[in-house]
This record gives sequence, structure tokens and C-alpha cells, in this order.
Amino acid sequence: MAEVLVFVDHVDGAVRKPTLELLTLARRIGEPVAVAVGAGAADTASVLAGHGAVRVLTADAPEFAEYLVVPKVEALQAAVEAVSPSAVLVPSSAEGKEIAARLAVRIGSGLITDAVDLEAGEQGPVATQSAFAASFTTKSRVSKGVPVVTVKPNSAPVEPVQAAGAVEALAVSFSEKATGTRVTSRTPRESTGRPELTEAAIVVSGGRGVNGAENFAVIEALADSLGAAVGASRAAVDAGWYPHTNQVGQTGKSVSPQLYIASGISGAIQHRAGMQTSKTIVAINKDAEAPIFDLVDYGVVGDLFAVVPQLTEEINTR
Ligand code: FAD
Repeated sequence: MAEVLVFVDHVDGAVRKPTLELLTLARRIGEPVAVAVGAGAADTASVLAGHGAVRVLTADAPEFAEYLVVPKVEALQAAVEAVSPSAVLVPSSAEGKEIAARLAVRIGSGLITDAVDLEAGEQGPVATQSAFAASFTTKSRVSKGVPVVTVKPNSAPVEPVQAAGAVEALAVSFSEKATGTRVTSRTPRESTGRPELTEAAIVVSGGRGVNGAENFAVIEALADSLGAAVGASRAAVDAGWYPHTNQVGQTGKSVSPQLYIASGISGAIQHRAGMQTSKTIVAINKDAEAPIFDLVDYGVVGDLFAVVPQLTEEINTR
């Protein structure tokens, strides 16, 4: 069976959930071979083996931390040359998309970004994407070179499956280009204790209907009752009620959780572009004619200040 490379997103050896989802998809189209680079790369092996990686290629060098993405691209390129995979899968983070794009150029391959599903096809993997502000669902495949595909978080379940996961050192020699952009400082964002927006299984978002920064406490309380991340519409962000890092939509983040709850959000096309691939969508809006109700699975017509606290209370009592 053909091997499929999976680029591992990890923090000091702790593998992030989108990588485990990629392993599930990789097993649909071949045998997953994981590529982990940077500090703690070797520590990822047991988790990756526990999710189906038949081999784990690891490399560590100061360059991975000291310079921006090119060293990682060169490591992945070295893995492509060593393995001759049938596809390369990369998580659809901002960094992942840059790595994938640079890799595709270097190896002369076609690239598909932000896939939400992947299946085996007669002429190579077929990726599902959501296109034109989520107005269309497209299926496409790469017709040139080794397919490079980035996949959005929450696009596949995490499936524990034990595989050999043999650790092998990946030989990487960096070119001059690898050291072109040096990292000068890193400032970790203050943690809210909530999951990362793009990776969260549940997102609770508030819009202009929330009517003030202080009122976002109502949205946060519901989010915390569900272990969810908090999102916001651009109207709420532009009003200064919530940070831009939490904006969902065309000019914000793209999310694809199992459950998306929109409160006081009208459902403008630019907002839908960032959340329409959510598996189950719930809206709370006092206007029964709000466009958001065209795409919801469940809708509540009502004042969010009456509905949301009741929902939070009900969830907290369970
Ligand atoms: P509104 O459209 O004003 O809707 C507020 C809703 O709240 C209404 O439906 C109202 O009935 C309801 N409401 C009010 N009070 C209550 C209450 N007490 N209880 C329940 N419901 C209540 N928008 C994004 O979100 N993300 C983007 O990334 C984005 N990018 C954009 C890019 C471009 C180039 C442009 C032009 C626009 C972009 N927008 C984006 C803006 C977008 O067009 C909308 O203006 C925005 O999404 C509206 O936000 P909203 O739904 O919160 O506000």
C-alpha cells in the first residue's frame, strides 16, 4: 500500500489534535508515515503510532526554532524524496498552509488547501472543499506531481489504531534559503483556558446582537458550560467588544466544529464563509427572518439574553 506523509503539528512533543485527524484521513488513502520536526519531535512517536502511523520520521535542529517556516519545508521535502509518498497531508493552520504551498512549488506538485474531507480515488485522493464563501462544495484532485493537501481541523474523527510507528531519523541538510528569515521574539498569547478557536469541537459565537463588550460574559458562560471556544462576528469585533483573534468569517478565522452556536448574528455571507462547514449549526436570533436561519440545523427565535442563560443553566445542571 502506498505511503502517505502526514506533517505533524506539535508543541514540544505534544501532538495537536488536527494531526491525529490527518492520520485518520491518511489511513483512508494509504499507510500514514508521520514527519515530526523540532524540539520534542521524537516524543511524538508513541501518540502517532497509537493513531495509525506506520513510521515516524523525526528531525531536530536549532534551525527549526530559530527561523520561520523554510527549515520545516526543507525537512518535509527531504521526507518526500526519501519516501516517494502518494500524497502529503498538512494541517490547515496559517503555518501549515505556508509550508504546504512552499513544498508544492519546490516539488512541482499541485496543491489543495482547506479540504474538509478526503477519499481514495482511482487517479489519486479526492478532496472536498467549500468554495466561493461556502456557496459551493467542490471535489477536486491534484493532476500533477505528489498531491499536497491541507485539511481543516475537525474534518475527520480521531481514531486510535495501534501501528508500528517505528522511529527513523530523517536526514535534512538546510539550504541558504532556510535561514533567510530569523525569529526575533515569541510572545505566547495569554491563555483564556478555552480551546483554540480553529480546533475547538464546539464554538459559541456572538454578534452585534450581544450589544456590548460586557455582555459577552453571557456568551462566554455558555461556551464554558460546553467546553467551547468563543467566536465573534466582525460587527462585534469592529465595535471593540471582542478581540480580532476571535473573529469568524471571510476576513477572520475559518472554523469547522461539530457544533456552532451563533447568537445575535444575522448570517451575512462573509460570516457564513468562516463557519458554514460546521457539522451542526444552531442560531439564536430575535428576528425570524434573519438569513442565518436558512442554514441552521436548529433555530431559536428569541432574545439571546433570555435564551442563552437558560441554555447555560440547563447544561450546567446535567
Ligand atoms: P448584524 O448583521 O447587525 O446582525 C445582528 C443580528 O443580531 C440581527 O440578525 C438581529 O436580529 C440580532 N439581534 C439583535 N439583538 C438581539 C437579541 N437581543 N437577541 C437575539 N438576536 C438579536 N463579518 C463577519 O462576521 N466575519 C468576517 O470575517 C467578515 N468579513 C467581511 C469582509 C468584507 C470584505 C466585508 C465587506 C464584510 C465582512 N463582514 C464579516 C461583515 C459582514 O458583512 C456583516 O456586516 C457582519 O457579519 C454582521 O455581523 P452581525 O451578524 O453580528 O451583525
